[in-house]
Amino acid sequence: MKILIAGAGAMGSRFGLMLHQGGNDVMLVDGWQEHVDQIKEHGLQADYNGEDVVVDLPIMAQSNIDQPFAADLVILFTKAMQLEGMMQAIRPLIHEKTNILCLLNGIGHEDTIEKYVPLEQIFIGNTMWTAGLVGPGKVKLFGDGSIELQNLAPGHETNAKELAAALSESGLNAKYSENIHYSIYRKACVNGTMNGLCTLLDVNMHNFGMTSPARDIVTAIVAEFSAVAAAENVQLDVAETVGYVEQCYPTEKIGLHYPSMHQDLIKDHRLTEIDYINGAIVRKGEKYGIATPYCRFLTQLIHTKEELLDAK
Ligand code: NAD
Repeated sequence: MKILIAGAGAMGSRFGLMLHQGGNDVMLVDGWQEHVDQIKEHGLQADYNGEDVVVDLPIMAQSNIDQPFAADLVILFTKAMQLEGMMQAIRPLIHEKTNILCLLNGIGHEDTIEKYVPLEQIFIGNTMWTAGLVGPGKVKLFGDGSIELQNLAPGHETNAKELAAALSESGLNAKYSENIHYSIYRKACVNGTMNGLCTLLDVNMHNFGMTSPARDIVTAIVAEFSAVAAAENVQLDVAETVGYVEQCYPTEKIGLHYPSMHQDLIKDHRLTEIDYINGAIVRKGEKYGIATPYCRFLTQLIHTKEELLDAK
């Protein structure tokens, strides 16, 4: 399969590497020129489960789409705020049979993608794979993961199942989901609590979870996500979802980790995806007449921190 990875940072690099190793014809597109130049010159360098791997993958700069590539599949892996620019850049590479798969964290990306591609070609999902960028051209990939995905247009279930099977052939462990919006909202509750709170408080998930107000704060935020989800016919059980978030706390699981927003903002002074997580709940809350004071305050505080750190 000819697969275009649109956004080849940490996650795009992981998927590009695994799909290339699975025998697919992979092309990367990325907007970070230094990263593009490094991959062109030295290949994609990965610490892949402790082993040094170099993969020679073709890559185009987002600002200079200069090679023809008739993609069967586009996998979107920009940060949420980069998605619109990426869709505009890769437009010439999308044809009427190109499937588009969006695995970004956050809510409502289909609204952006739909402006460029008919609904029938769009598949959305989420992933438990992880990845980290060490520097331009270099990634660290560790552990296992999975993907859940679903077609957006009714009647395209078979295409979604075939897409999941094709990804699984490269070891990506993808499954068709009957209710992807539920999974996306549920995962967004983890990002919508752990990301912003641990970033602002400058703590790992375990240390946050051990504080006495943690459960009240998480419950209040999850209740806002749940109320907005219900307005979209997605039923999220607040207590069950709070329990799901709290699975992040044990040190023997992922409790000692700082969420990626912490690394992006506090360490690297990069802008965050908050507008597409808690901020999306605020916007949808306004639309449906649902109060979302916790999500609003968290979004405002993260933007304040972005300004204070002059994040780019
Ligand atoms: P990333 O930040 O590694 O890459 C996204 C884009 O930002 C790429 O185009 C990359 O080249 C660019 N970029 C990265 N560092 C840069 C720098 N210092 N200067 C300029 N540009 C830079 O993002 P990611 O972690 O691959 O995440 C992509 C999407 O997947 C997001 O929606 C994220 O929330 C989601 N996600 C990430 C993980 C993870 O473990 N990283 C897991 C699940 C979902």
